[in-house]
Amino acid sequence: MANLVNPWLRERELIFEIGRTLMAELELNEVLRVILQATTDLVASKVGIVILAEPDEQLFRVVATYGVPQRILEKFRPLTQGIPYADGKEREALEEVLRYAKQIAHVTDPNLESSLGLPMYSGEAIIGSIFIFPSHRYMISQSVVRFLQSFAAWAALAVKNARLYEAVTAEKQRLNAIIQQSADGVMILDSTLNISEFNAALVRMTGVKSAEAVGKPHQNIMRWKSLRTDTDLHGALANGWPLPNATYLYVEGDLYKKCGNKLISLGVTYAPLLNERGKMTSIIANVRDLTRYREEEKLQKTFISVVSHELKTPVSIIKGYAGTLQRDDADWPQAITNEYLATIEEEADNLTDLIDNLLEASRLQSGTFKLDIHNEVALASIARNVTKKFDAQTDKHQLLVQFPPHFPEIDGDERRLVQVFNNLISNAIKYSPEGGEIVVSGEIHPEHVIVRVQDSGIGIPHHEQHRIFQQFSRLDNALSRQTEGTGLGLFLTKAIINAHNGDIWFTDNDDAPGTTFSFSLPILHPESA
Ligand code: ADP
Repeated sequence: MANLVNPWLRERELIFEIGRTLMAELELNEVLRVILQATTDLVASKVGIVILAEPDEQLFRVVATYGVPQRILEKFRPLTQGIPYADGKEREALEEVLRYAKQIAHVTDPNLESSLGLPMYSGEAIIGSIFIFPSHRYMISQSVVRFLQSFAAWAALAVKNARLYEAVTAEKQRLNAIIQQSADGVMILDSTLNISEFNAALVRMTGVKSAEAVGKPHQNIMRWKSLRTDTDLHGALANGWPLPNATYLYVEGDLYKKCGNKLISLGVTYAPLLNERGKMTSIIANVRDLTRYREEEKLQKTFISVVSHELKTPVSIIKGYAGTLQRDDADWPQAITNEYLATIEEEADNLTDLIDNLLEASRLQSGTFKLDIHNEVALASIARNVTKKFDAQTDKHQLLVQFPPHFPEIDGDERRLVQVFNNLISNAIKYSPEGGEIVVSGEIHPEHVIVRVQDSGIGIPHHEQHRIFQQFSRLDNALSRQTEGTGLGLFLTKAIINAHNGDIWFTDNDDAPGTTFSFSLPILHPESA
């Protein structure tokens, strides 16, 4: 019945159908299939093919067919896999494509002999072609050809739109990836200050999941505990920000990380995005985690105050004693002179220890801390020597050394291990101001040895146990008793033991006051070394 229908009416119907398809934002291949069907219908053809250029791969490839059974199409692999073309040589490639297309049409229906190619253009460039194979009874008039060409132009438009859409989507994904992967925190706010983007770095910094932040008001997520700048975003907006010539806003302060009560320091730079009428449409915020920087700043301040205090004490003692000995008006008995000189020597030793500790701490920080490993370090004899040295300096304490016979020697850095004994034994003395027993003992295990330094001193408060091995940490027990120290000793001791693949820990003494510090070191058996 189709040939009874007024051809103009049929053309109008097809135009509507194509128009609807274009508006429906269907997938490109579906749009091309509808256009191909309309084109072939119009000329009473049974077979049609659409090929498209793939600019990335420089190939022409079949993207839609009409009336071609799949099994036939599969026989023409070169066409489905793509015919290469060079820029400016599209026409030559299209001829090759046409040859294959004719073969397909012929195999599908041997009666199809004539063919019509309707190239699709984007500007000057050919981006594809529709091929139709009218039945031999159908004479195509010039006006129909022009009409068909307009279908090809629509198909080209659909391709162009789809490619634009693809490019925009790809660009959006690229931008999203950049925002998400950025090492700095990035947050985007809409004009009502609701968060529309919250990247992975911000999730790490704040502990707030992206899904929890997106859609929420900015002030619900950025709840400053304290500010280091004069204003936050909301204060600035209330004061008329953004002013035309001061576009960026910098806000810095501390807030609590979600889950837990850890304070983090953040620096946020807000940049407004304005439309052409100067109205703010969104705000991009770059967020930097300044916590480490602030901690280091604090550590540096502590360092300077601790070190200057600790250096001053021995220096003023040395100066005082040296000045006294030098007085012209006094004739000191030999015993006094010897005692003063011994004190000067002791304080000079303290100074050397302090400087050594500082050097080691800075080596640890700069990553240049290296052990000088020698075979066969005899821990038992180090324990005896160091204990003997300290024994001579105290009357209040009884220092005992209890090591089993044949205590194994270990591979280690002797000088540093002496430093470990120095730190632990001097702490045991320092933090048992009432005196008492200090026992340095050793235990042998199959794979490792353990050394313990047990005192009967003031003990370590439970609530402070977690920070005892931290740099510059001096607990209340030390500060309230005004003992001297830098809070570096245990930090270094732990670093030295860990560098030897050992462990260090402490325990309260059972049923007795005081603390026991223990460390383990591996015994390297000659066969496993
Ligand atoms: P310093 O003794 O120079 O302060 P350390 O790093 O050696 O530094 O020790 C850190 C803190 O640990 C000390 O200030 C003190 O509060 C505590 N501490 C260390 N050893 C003992 C101990 N044996 N008994 C009680 N408290 C100790």
